[in-house]
Amino acid sequence: MRMYDLIVKKKRGETLTDEEISFFVSGVTDGSIPDYQTSALLMAICFNSMTDEECASLTYHMMHSGGTVDLSSLPNTADKHSTGGVGDKTSLIIAPTAACVGLTAAKMSGRGLGHTGGTIDKLESVPGFSTDLSTEEFMNQVREIGAAIVGQTANLAPADKKLYALRDVTATVDSIPLIASSIMSKKLAAGAETIVLDVKYGSGAFMKTPEDAVRLAETMTAIGRANGRKVAALITDMDFPLGANIGNSLEVIEAVEVLRGNLKGDLYTVSVELCANMLSLSKNMPMEEARREVEEAIASGRAYRKFLQWMSAQGGDTSYIEENRLPVGRFSCEVPAPADGYLISLDAEKVGYSACILGAGRLTKDDTPDLSAGIVLRKQRGDSVKAGEALAVLYTSDESRLEAAAAQFIDGAVILAEKTDKQHPLIYKAVR
Ligand code: URA
Repeated sequence: MRMYDLIVKKKRGETLTDEEISFFVSGVTDGSIPDYQTSALLMAICFNSMTDEECASLTYHMMHSGGTVDLSSLPNTADKHSTGGVGDKTSLIIAPTAACVGLTAAKMSGRGLGHTGGTIDKLESVPGFSTDLSTEEFMNQVREIGAAIVGQTANLAPADKKLYALRDVTATVDSIPLIASSIMSKKLAAGAETIVLDVKYGSGAFMKTPEDAVRLAETMTAIGRANGRKVAALITDMDFPLGANIGNSLEVIEAVEVLRGNLKGDLYTVSVELCANMLSLSKNMPMEEARREVEEAIASGRAYRKFLQWMSAQGGDTSYIEENRLPVGRFSCEVPAPADGYLISLDAEKVGYSACILGAGRLTKDDTPDLSAGIVLRKQRGDSVKAGEALAVLYTSDESRLEAAAAQFIDGAVILAEKTDKQHPLIYKAVR
């Protein structure tokens, strides 16, 4: 078989066979196919897409390009995956809450890159917390307390690592079959029986419209079901950041407030809905009952206590959480509104870049983020503001970054209008 022929076939819009896709994935994994040929095929897929069968085959071979995690000895394993957003800290809320309602949350997460944050960086802002557990430690912990989040092992879908790195530099990220196979290969390899996907749409997401997000969700749920898993997806808004805090430690602080029962906004709503879908799907329970159980786990304080138990099990010093001492940047400034009006748009992607300038994110894979840096929004979608009133507060441990971050925030991200605008719903649709 020759890679050249596969490229020609896809360029003409023809369908690749399972054998051809297997040849492609193993050649990418062992390095025998050069990057220029891989890139050419990726671009042809971007233009001519893939059939459901091709996409299922690509996912299957990527999933088996490395090791898979066997969670079959654990009860009701359930995972949640977000397609990526700004201020999205739902995993920190969902893992302990899921453990309180009889699910096993054994999860692998990634680090942040570019304008989106990663759960592993957020967790590491709790002093002492380790995301690097052996398989035995990981399994013992989930058996004992029902929750663990660790970093992705190097051997989890290695074909995806190579393909994603190439897609990132060849403008081939935003293709539905490529995104779906990338995400689902890792989710399937990570072993959970139930998978709930949070597919974002809007300025801060890969999918800019809700219709495209639904297409991506349908593709991913079909792949999951074809591989014997229970899968659902929520289509949620990422035109605005989720919640008020953006940046690693600041996001943990906000998640803790939700778990303490002190916050009931968009972050609470999306977290409850995702966790209720996990419970409903896993235990075949009506959604209203699942929602009630999840809300009760938070309102009773059980989810917060489980969060502390989980932090402690992975080495985190919980006194920082209980005494509200998590690190927050030493230097700060308010960003004032330039005029009177209504805050009708706060471009999530540009807010994410402003947080990156403050030091909260990585511009390259090897950067070390400033865990205490970030943004606290003082105004939310649709709020009225007066000129000079604070829209947000920026935090960093490097004072020289404040000016450029404030300029990026105000010039790039904020749109004020004389009237409030019709907004997209926070949860557009559930795909079950
Ligand atoms: N996240 C992934 O893991 N892969 C993609 O292709 C897009 C988002």
